[in-house]
Amino acid sequence: MPVNDPSHGFCRDCLALQRGSGPRCHGCGSPRLLRHPELYKLHLAHIDCDAFYAAVEKRDNPELKDKPVIIGGGKRGVVSTACYIARIHGVRSAMPMFKALEACPEAVVISPDMEKYVRVGREVRSMMQALTPLVEPLSIDEAFLDLDGTERLHGLPPALVLARFAVAVEKEIGITVSAGLSYCKFLAKVASDLRKPRGFTVIGEAEALAFLAPQPVTMIWGVGKAFAATLESDGIRSIGQLQRMDRGDLMRRYGTMGSRLYHLSRGQDDRQVSPDQEAKSVSAETTFDTDLASSAELVPVLRALSEKVSARLKKANIAGRTVVLKLKSQDFKLRTRNRQLTDPTRLADRIFQTGMQLLSKETDGTKYRLLGIGVSDLSDDERADPPDLVDVQSRKRALAEGAIDVLRGKFGKNAVETGYTFGKGRNAHPPEALDD
Ligand SMILES: [Mg+2]
Repeated sequence: MPVNDPSHGFCRDCLALQRGSGPRCHGCGSPRLLRHPELYKLHLAHIDCDAFYAAVEKRDNPELKDKPVIIGGGKRGVVSTACYIARIHGVRSAMPMFKALEACPEAVVISPDMEKYVRVGREVRSMMQALTPLVEPLSIDEAFLDLDGTERLHGLPPALVLARFAVAVEKEIGITVSAGLSYCKFLAKVASDLRKPRGFTVIGEAEALAFLAPQPVTMIWGVGKAFAATLESDGIRSIGQLQRMDRGDLMRRYGTMGSRLYHLSRGQDDRQVSPDQEAKSVSAETTFDTDLASSAELVPVLRALSEKVSARLKKANIAGRTVVLKLKSQDFKLRTRNRQLTDPTRLADRIFQTGMQLLSKETDGTKYRLLGIGVSDLSDDERADPPDLVDVQSRKRALAEGAIDVLRGKFGKNAVETGYTFGKGRNAHPPEALDD
């Protein structure tokens, strides 16, 4: 049977090609068959490990195999990952531990071993990198892969390469993954989440509009709770409603987000998989010991992080034009806000002032566990921070910052502390923390 013939699905366990529409593999009898009219045409994938931390712990202690396992606890007292058995009992990520144990008293609670998870995550990633150089990690346990043009290398189309990868991860690493295969990043990521664990979901171009229409707007990248509430107050709940609106109208109502809604609701997403994501922005972030809500507490941290980012930019002689603020709330919801500047900057003060503007809209009583600031749209620093004729104050601050840099260069990083960070030692110069 020829590979690539769209009338042939395949078995996800033994990879044998399947003719016809029988419910089980003619070779191994497995019911895990994959068929799709665009199966051999699509090459954009998203791979996500299933209940990653819990899966690693189960792998390392077979006694846990059939028990509900929760990774979490410690100082923060929330669930970091719950295995699928614990999830059946109603345990969810970010749930306070006492609630999780109410829902599932027999759960085995294990405190996270980040070093181990990072190590295993790297193993999975290097297996991905053996498939294609175009691997874009999103976190420790998930990544986008573009398998375009790899067919000759593997002797197999991308769909089969992915299925073989999933089997290999189970065998060699001892955990499971779910894969999404589509023609764009947005739908590949959506797809990988549809049939966890051990899922493999395909969303083709021909079905994209119909698939998206009944889905809630929160499925769209960047539509969080707050923005969903805004849409809801305008009577918009489903992606189908967005599909019927025109672009101009959406832009007038929601600015640049309107344009994103227009395109993504129609399954249009031309973002490329970029393997060196890290090099495209410079940022610093920190996770707090206790959640912070007030700007009095957050601003000094923002200042310290802005200085860190600026120091890195200056050291590398680069500058960034878009300032990105990142916040993670108590319930692990991520908020990223960005603002484009008229010119690239490498100044701590400009990064900080822009970050302040973004932060001021987010200090609404929400408790945050993580704050980050960074710049993207990087370029060399030749055209960075031109003297600002309009804003005399900002020019003064830029000059002052130059003077501070000289002093710090002479006497060390802590020789000069600005009013924002002075005396806020612990939070102002937080230890590097691992994001979960
Ligand atoms: Mg995962």
